[in-house]
Order: sequence, then C-alpha cells, then structure tokens
Amino acid sequence: MFPWIESVRSQMQESFERNRFHHAQLIHGLVGVGKTALVQSLSEDLLCTNSSTLASCGQCKSCLLLRAQNHPDLLHLMAESGSIGVDEVRALNEFVFHSAQQGGNKVVVIEQIEKMTESAANALLKTLEEPAAKRYILMTCNDISKVKATVLSRCNQVRVAVTDGTAAKQWLAMKGISSEAHLWADNFANQPLLLEQWSSQGIMPEVDYLWKVAHDIASISDINALESSLAKGTNLYTVFTRFLISAVKQQLVAGQINFVQYHNCTQQVEKYMSDHHKILGINKLLSLSNLVFGIQRVLRQD
Ligand SMILES: [Zn+2]
Repeated sequence: MFPWIESVRSQMQESFERNRFHHAQLIHGLVGVGKTALVQSLSEDLLCTNSSTLASCGQCKSCLLLRAQNHPDLLHLMAESGSIGVDEVRALNEFVFHSAQQGGNKVVVIEQIEKMTESAANALLKTLEEPAAKRYILMTCNDISKVKATVLSRCNQVRVAVTDGTAAKQWLAMKGISSEAHLWADNFANQPLLLEQWSSQGIMPEVDYLWKVAHDIASISDINALESSLAKGTNLYTVFTRFLISAVKQQLVAGQINFVQYHNCTQQVEKYMSDHHKILGINKLLSLSNLVFGIQRVLRQD
C-alpha cells in the first residue's frame, strides 16, 4: 500500500478488530490519491476466509479467486457511461440479499458514487440503512460535495489525502518523477498516482510543454501545436488551465499585472472551461485561440 495511506488503513484495521467497522464505507479524496487501491485491498481483506483481522492471507481459495478477478461474492459497480443507474443498484440489492457462495463476507464496491443518479441513490438507501450481516459496501468518490446527504448520513466517511508530502515525493522519486525534472510536479504532489499515470502513458513531455506555454502565454502563436498537445491526454486541458491560472497569479503577486487584469484572465479561462465540453472539432481550436489571444490582449492592457 502507498505510504500516505498506511495510517488510514491501520485506523480501519483497528476499528475492525474492535467490531466497530461500519458496513458502508465512503472513501473520498482527490483523483490520483489511491482510493481504488485502498478499496481493492479492503475487499481482499474482507473476503479472505483465513483472516479475522482485516489482513488478507493471499493464499486461501477466496484470495486466489480474487486474484483471478473471479470472486462470486464481490460485485463491482462503476460509472461506465457517465452515471450509475437504478438498474445497477437494484442488481446490487439483489446481490446483497443472496447468501455468500464462499461462505464468508460479501462485498460491493461502488466507484465514484457521486455519479449515481437520484433514483439509483434512493434505491441504495434501504441497503445502506438496514445492513445484513457480513455484507460490506465500499464506495469511493472524488467530490464528496456531490454525494447526496441521504447517502452520506448512512456511511462512515474516510478521507484519503497525501498528508506526508515527503513520503509521496520519495515514492514519486523512485518512479523517476521529481520537481527537478518537471518544474510543475509539486503542483500535483497531493495526487501522486496521477503523475505516475501520466508517466506510464508517456505524456510527461506534454505536461512539461503545457507548463512552458502557460508561463510563456504572452508570446504563444502556434495554436495548432497547443491543441494537438492538449489532445494527447484526457483532461490535459484542465491541467493547462490550472497552469495558466497559477502563472497569471504569479504575475499578479510579482506586480507585473493588476487585479483587474488577473480577474479578466481568470474569466477567459472560465469561459474556455465551460465551452470545452460543449464543442467539437474546429470549434475547439477556435475556442483555444480565443483563450490564448484573449489573455494576451488582457496582459497587454495597462
Ligand atoms: Zn485469504
């Protein structure tokens, strides 16, 4: 397990040993902090038929079935096409109701619970409220503010975050990712798995490039190059806009621009962000050039 998650994990183990482990756990935190890995290992621990301490043995039939991704007492729900619907939750309720095939616990994992529709969330309430014995529901979410209050109040909320920045940096350094090599890396120090993912996808050079463009925005003219770089990874545009905001903020702090200019720049960024989901093809390029030239105009004003 990742070093920054160890303390959360041992707290959960402790509550399990004291018979205080809640049957519905909602694990929340930023993208790239290790929530999925945590629920994965918790499901192993809960399904292991050889352990009573929330620590899987890795050898029993249950553990081997899990490793083969073939455990009949584990149900995994994830928003494939944008949302988790009521039919999926009804299937979940059915799954929880039937007895376990391996004779132990049954576990349901729901990833990104904030993507549950209103009716799906309502269908889940009864199962959350009246837990059957030996049933566990492990949920993750990136944004707890989007989870319905009725669901929240029926779960134990566990926040996962990088609290020990040094441990995360060391972990990243072992993967060859450092702020010496990538000036922007510290901006994402609290999302280490996101950086690891970019590294394994080979898009670190793109992020380096976006960082440079954001800090050089006053002299950028090749919008095509920028757009093709943004197209190389999902959500790279949010990374770019984050870099842009931080670059203009630096200029504000350094007294190179005034507050009105800063405000106008952030408005350009917000407009670009809100347009991004609605438009396709050539319009994406237009929207990006509006952003870049719009910010350049603002920066030239005095
Ligand atoms: Zn086991």
